Amino acid sequence: MSAGNTAAGARFAAAARARTGAVADELLELSHALHARPELRFEEHEAAGRLRALLAGHGFAVEEGTGGLPTAFRAERVFGEPGAGPVLAVFCEYDALPSLGHGCGHNVIAAAGAGAALATAALMAEHGAKGTLLVIGSPGEEGGGGKVRLIEAGVLDGVDAAVMVHAAGYDAVSRTNLGRLSLEAVFTGRASHASAAPERGRNALDAATLLLVALGLLRQQLTPDSRVHAKVAEGGQSINIIPEHTRVELFARATDSGYLRGRLLDAVHDCVRGAAIATGTDYTFGEKAPAYDPMDPSPVLTALAADAFAALGRPIPPGSGWAGPAGSTDMGNVSMRVPALHAYVDAVPGAALHTRDFAAGAASPPADAAVLDGGAMLAAVLMALFTEPELLERARAAFAENHSTSPGSKGVADGGGS
Ligand SMILES: [Zn+2]
Ligand SMILES: [Zn+2]
Repeated sequence: MSAGNTAAGARFAAAARARTGAVADELLELSHALHARPELRFEEHEAAGRLRALLAGHGFAVEEGTGGLPTAFRAERVFGEPGAGPVLAVFCEYDALPSLGHGCGHNVIAAAGAGAALATAALMAEHGAKGTLLVIGSPGEEGGGGKVRLIEAGVLDGVDAAVMVHAAGYDAVSRTNLGRLSLEAVFTGRASHASAAPERGRNALDAATLLLVALGLLRQQLTPDSRVHAKVAEGGQSINIIPEHTRVELFARATDSGYLRGRLLDAVHDCVRGAAIATGTDYTFGEKAPAYDPMDPSPVLTALAADAFAALGRPIPPGSGWAGPAGSTDMGNVSMRVPALHAYVDAVPGAALHTRDFAAGAASPPADAAVLDGGAMLAAVLMALFTEPELLERARAAFAENHSTSPGSKGVADGGGS
């Protein structure tokens, strides 16, 4: 990126940090409240309510239940005459993990996203800039595909770019987030007394066991970025009955959507089929929840984010060592529709996501600093895009070049492949 871009990304950073600092009490109260009351996907009523109230209190027009999802919302502030300037969106996530609370730090995401909105709104007014600022409350990121449903409901219609920042154990402007299929295999055997007449049974738990072993062996023959992992969601009914019904939930992931929906999905299906054949059971196999597209970060937005982070005293090392696959995010689906940013802010230094250590640290002083700095970073990026139309033009051009065949052509969600 050019030096001009560097100036743009850094230009509003200090002012944005002052603005998140001015509302620090509200932002940190929000982060801590969510952390103390973790809510699972699509049950985030308190979190969504707190976010809506905070944004409404700062002049946003708030719609709840967006896209038919009770815990989704859409908040909007228009600066200048309606329709003037870009339409930019900040995504907030706020769901927690089963048994781990905020082990993915979505309380930090929510508070940083709100901070970005409040700081940007203040700076827009101060600079007389024009445009529309949206905050999209997207529930159910942990497996539910909230953003997928919101996109289907048209939440990105007319949006020029979308940003968010995720909590992490490091600062980064992007990581490789994999496309992901959410799959389910159900085996049906035949019940019989496990001691008195086992020879009359067909063991559905044996099928699940063989499936797990086959998947473990399959991994060696997959591309290094592939991930296949599973849990036995239903493993039988009673010890003295040959299990007649078992259910295995799986994620299959890869960077390339064509590979994921091709070779990888076929191979997993063969493992399921083989396990059923070997055990004389029947099976069903299919997708269980919305597919996540691989994240395709906008190079223009990531450059702005890097410069904003540096100006905030969080320089991103060149060629930052976090090049390997991360997880998957439904922000990937957003990135197939509009130029998008999915950055990371160091909230629990050195900790890995989805751990008890991360959950324990997600309301600590470093996490609080991540709320304020993450929000300021996003506000600096948004202000650059609102005030320098050339940046958005470049982001659009890069997006068009990267998605040249058709919208969503790199995605896995719609069954398309590249
Ligand atoms: Zn997570
Ligand atoms: Zn997460």
